[in-house]
Amino acid sequence: MKRFANMLAALLFALSFLPLSASAAGYTQTRYPIVLVHGFLGWDSIGPYDYWFGIADALRRDGAQVYVAQVSAANSTEVRGEQLLTYVKQVLAATGAQKVNLIGHSHGGPTVRYVASVAPGLVASVTSVGGVNKGTPVADILRGVAAPGSFSESVLGSIVNGVAGTIAFLSGDSSTQVSTAALDSMTTAGAARFNAAHPEGVPATACGEGAYQARGVYYFSWSGAQPFTNLIDPLDAPLSLVSLAFLGQKNDGLVGSCSSHLGRVIRDDYRMNHLDEVNQVAGLVNLFETNPVTLYRQHANRLREMGL
Ligand code: CA
Repeated sequence: MKRFANMLAALLFALSFLPLSASAAGYTQTRYPIVLVHGFLGWDSIGPYDYWFGIADALRRDGAQVYVAQVSAANSTEVRGEQLLTYVKQVLAATGAQKVNLIGHSHGGPTVRYVASVAPGLVASVTSVGGVNKGTPVADILRGVAAPGSFSESVLGSIVNGVAGTIAFLSGDSSTQVSTAALDSMTTAGAARFNAAHPEGVPATACGEGAYQARGVYYFSWSGAQPFTNLIDPLDAPLSLVSLAFLGQKNDGLVGSCSSHLGRVIRDDYRMNHLDEVNQVAGLVNLFETNPVTLYRQHANRLREMGL
């Protein structure tokens, strides 16, 4: 009797795993390695704390090979792009893969586009998440090249302070020094200059989609459009202040929805802010929206289904 009970228990135990493992196995197993590329002021100085919070592990769990790139926290798109190109070559050498799938957040969007533009043969796909592809008025204001319009000085001050507070948090130190090269890349004019040289996937219209494929590389994008999403996330308030710079246009607190467009637009209005897009801060995101980690898993599956 005891033996039967043990066998029954073992059988039930095994069965309990069957549906889960059968549906999940290989779900994120892309053909080519995935390389994640951080935005302006990456989180390199926050020790073991991940910029892509819980995302790399979630992708690896069901089969993806994932590499997390480290490029200059604050520098021009071209400088960051050259650093990333070197890193991509290292990934290819280490894995024996012929291409990579690049996913960039924020300034990481233009950064991954640079690599796909100068070395398309090494890139299977480019995905821009909250990418500052056509610049952001936040950078315009900070660089003083756009008139603040109807802003009072106090509101403008709040915006700058909000950005500085975000930067200080992200960089993990007290320095709020802002790289002019990085900011110049993220102004509307700077982004337009970059796009003229590297037009792949960039929409020709103000808020349309771009080419789904250019020079053999597939292009995708998504973004959020809700600056305030979680009462206990300390950065939602500063992001909400900064979002005033968009004068009512859809934005995620730092980047406009239309600016985020690249290639195939999966969606540009998730109820997420700029930091939710990488599951920050520490997983504090909108409880009433699809979890950002799920979006990355779905996208890996999308790439897998496309043979990428
Ligand atoms: Ca958040």
